[in-house]
Amino acid sequence: MAWHCNGTTNQEMVTKLKDAGILATDRAEAAMLAVDRAKYCHESDPYLDRPRRIGYNVTISAPHMHAYALSILSDQLVDGAKALDVGSGSGYLSACMAFMVGSRGRVIGIEHIPELIEISTRNVREDCPHFLKEGRIRFVVGDGRLGYTDEAPYNAIHVGAAADTLPQELIDQLAPGGRLICPVVAIQGFQRFQDLLQVDKSADGAITKKKLMQVSYVPLTDPTTQLRNTNV
Ligand code: SAH
Repeated sequence: MAWHCNGTTNQEMVTKLKDAGILATDRAEAAMLAVDRAKYCHESDPYLDRPRRIGYNVTISAPHMHAYALSILSDQLVDGAKALDVGSGSGYLSACMAFMVGSRGRVIGIEHIPELIEISTRNVREDCPHFLKEGRIRFVVGDGRLGYTDEAPYNAIHVGAAADTLPQELIDQLAPGGRLICPVVAIQGFQRFQDLLQVDKSADGAITKKKLMQVSYVPLTDPTTQLRNTNV
């Protein structure tokens, strides 16, 4: 039922995502109720189930993708956990993650466009100012393909843009028991698509990888290439 979870309010959007089975855990649902998408998506009808422009040739992901991501990472986004949101864009998903890890947890949003860091900080300040005051959420400018070693390891890593190959640096920065999800470009003949990959690190450090579904994200790239790409 992806793409059909349009709402006229945040509550209606969340109810439809839940009824469609996409928003699959109570804690992910509570996060999407607590964080108001309209504070992060400044176009009209912010509760439509579509990606929307946020400037700099990128989009805030569609609500159904946020719902999948938070549901898949629910067991890792627990009280006191540490999370990394790569390509934090509007700041929406970082804020949902911050809700789930609670006041003893910490979320780092890493984004390579400095203006988007300013915008996401403003968005969170409007919606959930205590997340910033408590230091529960912090936005940093940087190349997310390299992760953010200063705060590693992370229990959960979310990558919000499609990588050409799964960045090993991010796998290295996962804590034991941690989970990473990342869209990765796949090529078959002339066809080019993206798989959402889930990577789990067991308590003893063993890595398992699983393809979850085909997705469509903007590229995980460098700022010059991104600002040249006018397809978005
Ligand atoms: N989860 C965000 C997704 C935004 S789109 C949201 O829903 O708002 C993907 C984001 O990744 C964009 O903001 C883009 O600027 C950023 N990005 C792309 N490549 C990057 C890189 N190498 N390092 C950090 N951020 C990157």
